[in-house]
Amino acid sequence: MLRRWFALVLACCGGCNDSGRATAPTAATAPRVAEATEPVAAAGATSPSVESIRADTRELASDAMDGRRPGTAGGARAVAYIIERMTALGLAPGAGDGGWTQRVPMRVVSVDASRSRLGFGHGDDVRPLVFGDDVVGTSLRPAGTLRFDAPLVFVGHGITAPEYDWDDYAGVEVDGAVVVVLVGDPPLADGRFAGDALTYYGRWSYKFERALAAGARGVLIVHDAEAASYGWSVVRNSWSRERFAVHDDTRDRPPALAFEGWITHETADGLATRDGGSLAAWKAEARGPGFRGHRLRDAFVGEIVTSDRTLADVNVVGALPGTRADEAVVITAHWDHLGQDASAAADADAIFNGAIDNASGVAGMLAVAGTLRARVVSGRPLGRTVLFVATTGEEEGLLGSTYFAAHPPVPPTSLVAAVNLDSMNVDGRTRSVQVIGPGQSTLEDLLAEVTAAEGRTVVPDEHPESGGYFRSDHFALARVGVPAIYLRGGSDMEAGGRAQGQALGEVRAQHYHSVDDEFDPAWSFAGTLQDALTVASLVARVADDAARPQWKPGASVPGVIAPR
Ligand SMILES: [Zn+2]
Repeated sequence: MLRRWFALVLACCGGCNDSGRATAPTAATAPRVAEATEPVAAAGATSPSVESIRADTRELASDAMDGRRPGTAGGARAVAYIIERMTALGLAPGAGDGGWTQRVPMRVVSVDASRSRLGFGHGDDVRPLVFGDDVVGTSLRPAGTLRFDAPLVFVGHGITAPEYDWDDYAGVEVDGAVVVVLVGDPPLADGRFAGDALTYYGRWSYKFERALAAGARGVLIVHDAEAASYGWSVVRNSWSRERFAVHDDTRDRPPALAFEGWITHETADGLATRDGGSLAAWKAEARGPGFRGHRLRDAFVGEIVTSDRTLADVNVVGALPGTRADEAVVITAHWDHLGQDASAAADADAIFNGAIDNASGVAGMLAVAGTLRARVVSGRPLGRTVLFVATTGEEEGLLGSTYFAAHPPVPPTSLVAAVNLDSMNVDGRTRSVQVIGPGQSTLEDLLAEVTAAEGRTVVPDEHPESGGYFRSDHFALARVGVPAIYLRGGSDMEAGGRAQGQALGEVRAQHYHSVDDEFDPAWSFAGTLQDALTVASLVARVADDAARPQWKPGASVPGVIAPR
């Protein structure tokens, strides 16, 4: 399951720029919002406003949607709502064959922890591992009992990066082994990798992909709160749930590792100690020149028991046809969230409403749709077609966007760019827009032109260490070669500046992936509207431009990951 970083998204004091129902607009702020919507005012009903964004966010985050987990009735209600709104906004069904929805087949795997037992050692000398406390993991291989008596091989960070002259798999045999890898990138000071920023090589998903390609049977990632940017509890919670995967019934099932999991820092240190070393020594060794992976004294032993089921959910796709209908710009925003918290006490709130993550992004996408539709209605058609894709299964590992990228309703080469909205600024207006994972494509140059015209600046990702570029839906499109950008308002607020943005952002961060991510009538949504209008301008610019956006040299997607 994907664990995404929640930005320290800025927030605003309750009253500033608030033009919502709960608080009457102030004389100072109401005109500013009105100005922002002016270009579309002529189109009347379709013009987005803080009120339409507020209403969409409130509806999608309501308890009736039950946390919007894929395959649930609450999720289906969210889909119906989005179709109703896209219809009202005048979009056309864009999923192909005149429909609004693209079916995304999924497989859901559960591990029966009570019947699974794992350990390190041989024969009678086995150090048992406690599921949840010491180790978590699963397998996407066919369900049943998977037995292990596999050599363990330490492979440092588990990275093969020719452009950095780096290969942790050089000269070591891992065929059939379970590899032990460090999370994150090597902490080098010589300019290789990206310093404080996380590259895709540091992501857990890369570790699994590389190990599988190297012939390994399994992977144990050594958790490290700092390098992973989240604590063990996040790993344990996420990996103790069901694991979803795209179940593409038009293709052969892809090969899978027999075990993909994590061990705690302490468990790894114990393993290293039994091998005559220490985790600290392993870490030092792994960043040094000439590192060579090595086989450990202990083996990975035991078994896990898995079961599975299949289900299907849908992406919702709306289209705004352009005059050059042979090419398209894609906007993504995931509608799904985490459902219910099974561990909640009987009388406690158990619904993960996902108001910011990502009812706000869907509401923002609908605002972009309204803005662009109003432009078309006013007699200024778009160049390229714009596809609005509300994806399913993002929280479960970018499933809907991955399926869309593999099966777009238009020819794959016609997709010229992707723009992603996930967890928007629901508070006041900001002076900056941050690009998550900057330096990727010329979309950023277009964004800089758009924001300059608005009097805002583009700033780099405020939390590059968390690898946000690899953690939301645009990345699935980037992986098939479509230049993709993920942006959101920066923390420099018009009212209160950075201090206000950061202080309120910390509150948002505490609510990330918790039942406290709930709709709040005090949110102003002025920043959401501001960012939606910026995105609408960017998308219009991309749609109208003669040239297609291009990847920049050194972009961390092409070259790192072969398009598939
Ligand atoms: Zn999200």
